[in-house]
Amino acid sequence: LNDKLNGVFKRLKKQVRLDESNITEALKMVRMALLEADVNYKVVKNFIGSVQAKAMGEEVLKSLTPDQVFIKIVHDELVEILGGKDYDEGKIRLNSQPPTVIMMAGLQGSGKTTSSGKLAGLLMKQKRNVLLVAGDIYRPAAIDQLETLGKQLGCDVYSDRDSRDAVKIAKDALEYAKKTAKDVVIIDTAGRLHIDEELMAEIVRTKEAVNPDEILFVADAMTGQDAVNVAKAFNESLEATGIILTKMDGDARGGAALSIKEVTGKPLKFIGTGEKMGEFEAFYPDRMASRILGMGDIVTLVERAQESIEDGDAEDMAEKMAKHGLDFDDMLKQFKMIKKMGSLESIMRMIPGLNNISMGDMDEKQFKKIEAIIFSMTRQERKNAKILNSGRRKRIARGSGTSVADVNRLVNQLNQMNKMMKQMKKKLGGSNKLNPAM
Ligand code: GDP
Ligand code: MG
Repeated sequence: LNDKLNGVFKRLKKQVRLDESNITEALKMVRMALLEADVNYKVVKNFIGSVQAKAMGEEVLKSLTPDQVFIKIVHDELVEILGGKDYDEGKIRLNSQPPTVIMMAGLQGSGKTTSSGKLAGLLMKQKRNVLLVAGDIYRPAAIDQLETLGKQLGCDVYSDRDSRDAVKIAKDALEYAKKTAKDVVIIDTAGRLHIDEELMAEIVRTKEAVNPDEILFVADAMTGQDAVNVAKAFNESLEATGIILTKMDGDARGGAALSIKEVTGKPLKFIGTGEKMGEFEAFYPDRMASRILGMGDIVTLVERAQESIEDGDAEDMAEKMAKHGLDFDDMLKQFKMIKKMGSLESIMRMIPGLNNISMGDMDEKQFKKIEAIIFSMTRQERKNAKILNSGRRKRIARGSGTSVADVNRLVNQLNQMNKMMKQMKKKLGGSNKLNPAM
């Protein structure tokens, strides 16, 4: 999808303005690319229609190239479909009278149990007292799995290994939750390999018994078009309140997200980005839009960079980053830019390949430290981190009033950034995508 769309954008770059003929051509390519990404054809049709209407009316801004305008129209339209700008991302509807009951639904292997744990972890971070309920009684291993997760998270798990009645377990668990003053109850349920009547009946009865505040449909993003049909079926008998899209760490481009949202009309709330408990994020329509476009949040990044930095600076930096990697002077400059733009993490998230790496927020104190370390380096050392042997590191630490560990950390950070730049360059298939002038 990425290559295809880039082809379209490249062609547009040469045009001075968007006109009827080049828009039609570009739209054709976008349509094909979306269909190939497994987006439902009806969704594609509506989408193309609205992009066309917008693109035809749009004047090309003086400072931007036509490809950027077109990308932005496509991007904005995707955001609109995926939830709109004011989308209430990652929110759980909490009942004013606890416990809030959340029920998970979905096919076997979609990631219900894992997501139950992840969601519990997230809510625990918000100081909620959570109960996990092992509602998948058909496989003993499923109970073990949830109990292991519970132990790992330090979260209470309700299970009943002797029971053959999932509905009763849910009801009993709710009673237990009230007695133990839980804020939130997350009910993991059984999934089958395909939708079947029996499973549906059981989950509908569970729903009726515990009256959940949220029914979260868990869908595996890797299954593409199939996920859409399943989501539709589940939603028809269950009325889900939201969707969790798992396995977004794989090759899934997000076509499923677009389709599921359109077909069910339910909000996408979270995405799973790995097997580990922390690999779970609120769903952001704009990030997903960019992912579908196959270029991370580069568009947003460029926009923000342009807003807060003098253009020359941003261009230099991007070009240099892509061509030669970073040195400490760049790092200093970059941190200054980042301070202007917002947190480091929020910037990192927007760059493809970097979105899973957390470097924490930069506060003033940390920044001063980094500044002190870099200022204690010689010109040579700033340009070439490789010459920083242990003697030099000791001197720098002393000079900056920090420790060798601090210096080491900064060196590692620079190496890490360069490594990521390289990966990103590979992903983007060239260096020009980083350049705000594109
Ligand atoms: P369930 O049958 O719906 O309960 O699915 P599980 O929670 O047991 O997950 C099935 C498999 O998918 C397990 O191996 C999980 O580790 C894996 N899994 C779940 N969510 C994610 C995710 O977001 N990313 C990746 N890579 N794997 C996931
Ligand atoms: Mg399970």
